[in-house]
Amino acid sequence: MKQHPYQVMITDCDHGSIQEEQEEFDQIGAELILAQVQEEKDLIRVCKEADGLLNQYALLTRGVLESLSKCKVVSRYGVGVDSVDLRAATDLGIVVANVPDYCMDEVANQTIAMLLTLIRKTAFFDQKVKSGQWDFHLGTPIYRTRGKTLGLIGCGKIGLEVAKKISGFGVKVIAFDPYLQKVEEGVELIDFDTVLKKSDFISIHCPLNESTRHLMGQKEFQKMEKRPIIVNTSRGPIIDETALIEALKEGHISGAGLDVLEKEPPDPQSPLLKMDNVILSPHVGFYSEESISELKRRTAQNVSDVLMGRWPGSVVNREVKGKTRVPLSG
Ligand code: NAD
Repeated sequence: MKQHPYQVMITDCDHGSIQEEQEEFDQIGAELILAQVQEEKDLIRVCKEADGLLNQYALLTRGVLESLSKCKVVSRYGVGVDSVDLRAATDLGIVVANVPDYCMDEVANQTIAMLLTLIRKTAFFDQKVKSGQWDFHLGTPIYRTRGKTLGLIGCGKIGLEVAKKISGFGVKVIAFDPYLQKVEEGVELIDFDTVLKKSDFISIHCPLNESTRHLMGQKEFQKMEKRPIIVNTSRGPIIDETALIEALKEGHISGAGLDVLEKEPPDPQSPLLKMDNVILSPHVGFYSEESISELKRRTAQNVSDVLMGRWPGSVVNREVKGKTRVPLSG
């Protein structure tokens, strides 16, 4: 029987094929096993010989990580690494890697698609025409896009991509981002209240954490002088949904495009499902066939990098430097 120098385990994943991962590990002669386990006791039993793990949802607790005496690296499918006990991994010398930028283009396009749909009222008209109403007056007023101002809340990878793309529509971009001193040309960094006050459109691109939960609430909606359209493709709880519904009813904002919600899927009774000026999508921003293929390939590449003695592209627990179970360069 063929002897493999390394064994790599996929703890669990919900994508159909593991072809990209297999191709990556074939190149270094590693054996790849798809375990599809999530229970702690199963993870401990199945993964004990693994030199590296690919992980989606299964919780890699301290107990699990301590049982992986050969494991040098855990690579998470995607951005978030909540499934991994980072402190334990670092204590044990296990590198934790992720893939933070596999879907920037997709999320930016989702944002702009939702924004233009609301500006031009295309989803609204589609419903009207299909129900037999051929009358553009039903959707008035519609305003010109050129010359308007888009306010970004958060101007990291996706926010910046949105800024670049929307500039082709003649839209001015302002942004609030408390962690940036400067940003690329074409975006003006400005304080939070000014973004609320001056924007015709607002798009949210910051992470969800304790300081951004309900960042957009009743007080903020009331400061929006231009009755903006709001798009959220980041995380649902950044917007206080009860306050959003109220702001839509009161007319403080003129529309909302939401790829993410406080509760996913939404309550069937949610008023958002009945509003003409609200469009929704099922947290699909990250997805294209190409982005998923890239995610799988790069998640695997992180593991093969470590097994080959290189630092992977994106390390989450940098403090592991000096303690890794194999020497790493690059
Ligand atoms: P990023 O880390 O590159 O950028 C986030 C930016 O937000 C940073 O520049 C940071 O300084 C800024 N920020 C932090 N706290 C802030 C605050 N209080 N106010 C304003 N700005 C703040 O992240 P990214 O890759 O651009 O992702 C942005 C968001 O998109 C994240 O919430 C992510 O979870 C979400 N996302 C959604 C999907 C989807 O399918 N809809 C897919 C990928 C990412």
